[in-house]
Amino acid sequence: MKRARRLERLRPTFPLIFWQLCERCRMEFRREWGWTLTVGLSCSIYRHVCASCAPERKDAENFFLPRGMGSDSFRPPPSE
Ligand SMILES: [Zn+2]
Repeated sequence: MKRARRLERLRPTFPLIFWQLCERCRMEFRREWGWTLTVGLSCSIYRHVCASCAPERKDAENFFLPRGMGSDSFRPPPSE
């Protein structure tokens, strides 16, 4: 039985130029701290959460991996 994949790379980010969309509050942030999760090996996916939603690393980890696998399970359905 395979456990949930470990967090690939979770690192603090401080975007200066580009806006990053926080996946939790759906606000774009820039020039403030947040977290970037890099998922995947061949095709990397970058996911972001702002520091307001995840002030500490463990908050970001809990957000990105709330209950093991199924990182898509908590995504809201597309509203478009
Ligand atoms: Zn946020």
